[in-house]
Amino acid sequence: MNMNYIAGEWLAGTHAAPNINPSNTADVVGEFARAEAAEAEKAIAAAYDAFPGWSRSSIQLRHDILKKVGDEILARKDELGRLLSREEGKTLPEGIGEVVRASQIFQFFAGETLRMAGDKLASVRPGVDIEITREPVGVIGLITPWNFPIAIPAWKIAPALAYGNTVVFKPAELVPGSAHALSEIIVRAGVPAGVFNLVMGRGSVVGEALLNSPKVSAISFTGSVATGRKVAQACIASDPMKKMQLEMGGKNPLVVLDDADLKVAVECAVNGAFFSTGQRCTASSRLIVTSGIHDRFVDAVTERMKSLVVDDALKSGTQIGPVVDQNQLDQDLKYIRIGQDEGATLAAGGELLNRETPGFYLAPALFTNVDNRMRIAQEEIFGPVATVTRARDYEEALEIANDTQFGLSAGICTTSLKHASHFKRNSEAGMVMVNLPTAGVDYHVPFGGRKGSSYGPREQGRYAEEFYTTVKTAYTFDGNEPYVPKTRASE
Ligand code: NAD
Repeated sequence: MNMNYIAGEWLAGTHAAPNINPSNTADVVGEFARAEAAEAEKAIAAAYDAFPGWSRSSIQLRHDILKKVGDEILARKDELGRLLSREEGKTLPEGIGEVVRASQIFQFFAGETLRMAGDKLASVRPGVDIEITREPVGVIGLITPWNFPIAIPAWKIAPALAYGNTVVFKPAELVPGSAHALSEIIVRAGVPAGVFNLVMGRGSVVGEALLNSPKVSAISFTGSVATGRKVAQACIASDPMKKMQLEMGGKNPLVVLDDADLKVAVECAVNGAFFSTGQRCTASSRLIVTSGIHDRFVDAVTERMKSLVVDDALKSGTQIGPVVDQNQLDQDLKYIRIGQDEGATLAAGGELLNRETPGFYLAPALFTNVDNRMRIAQEEIFGPVATVTRARDYEEALEIANDTQFGLSAGICTTSLKHASHFKRNSEAGMVMVNLPTAGVDYHVPFGGRKGSSYGPREQGRYAEEFYTTVKTAYTFDGNEPYVPKTRASE
């Protein structure tokens, strides 16, 4: 397992680090390679050299490889889902669901290889034709976070390869197992040497090598705002400047109006806030509830929280797995203290839990009496911690929902068409959900946000081509005089 895949070869890393199961810290999933900058340079050089060939390769070849990857992922969904849940801590059904999603993404982009279209337009000049086509960008550095260990790599690698780019993939340090397994599948599907490279290692080493190399043309990054800012600065500072796509944090509001179906609202809130241990960039971490339903909603959510089963991610019946590691747990606990110090009421949860095995178990926490200016309502916690803020009416709820530096996803629970429509139009988020949790999206449509959450073109669906291709406008004058048909002799 201690291997990087560089220039068509599996190579042992300079160092190795253990991959620990957050449900049971005594369980070591494996030892995984930690590369140094020189190994990253080698991968970048290989991707650079492979680009001319791959960018001109047949779309049938690319289709067949991506389809094969999707097929194998799906065939092994239970095994890969188990590995994912074991190393990341989301429940087994969530882990398997994510693996299926990764397979669907490869299938989608396999199809897209056969649908690459351009435009042909008339010129303003007689005798001139204009063709607008898309071409691959070059070597793309992919830097991914730990919370979706296979789906996020899939939604970057699949379009990158489909559109003819070569790839250096740097997964998050906490989840090398899924990255390694996915890479083995991609290699087995027959990508030519150098086209796809896996380099596991630290962000400050491997990530920065990608950012600093002039051979890398573009970076697709998903992670925190702080790292995203560094990535952006490095992409601008590099010569030539790199194209970039940044998907970052969220503090997503779920508005619950007086006329909401209470059952639907409670399920949206609990699922959106706490499932996947709240470790989703699209988690509903701010619940904004109008006065007429506020108390009934809080009672129903706290009641529902009592029945949530927090336990080992691999155990059947577990609904919420552990927090991913000690650092993230410390951050969650720090914010729970901050919330209490700020004067919010900890209405439920927030305590550490003991289970059969030593793990990072935290009872999902709900704060009430939260003013939206509090830190717990403004800063991304990235754990199973949600806040409830009371709003007078729909108008105030919308104001509060938009009063954030982030803009990834936003939801509303209401039976009013008028308010649902108004919210869809006026919410300052990249994705808007009506009577659905803020988390949980389809794979064939664009994903991304605005304000502090995202920078650059959207990911996923057909919109992915915007980042993974560059546009060429070609003008042709063929030298002919304008053709004027002569009157036919027979007429
Ligand atoms: P992170 O920013 O700590 O790390 C993300 C990746 O960047 C990792 O691979 C890391 O090794 C790398 N990295 C770190 N320092 C680097 C540097 N100096 N140069 C280059 N690369 C570097 O984020 P994380 O803790 O892995 O993930 C959690 C964050 O990801 C949360 O903020 C969450 O909201 C965000 N996220 C966003 C989305 C989205 O699509 N908007 C999706 C999932 C997660």
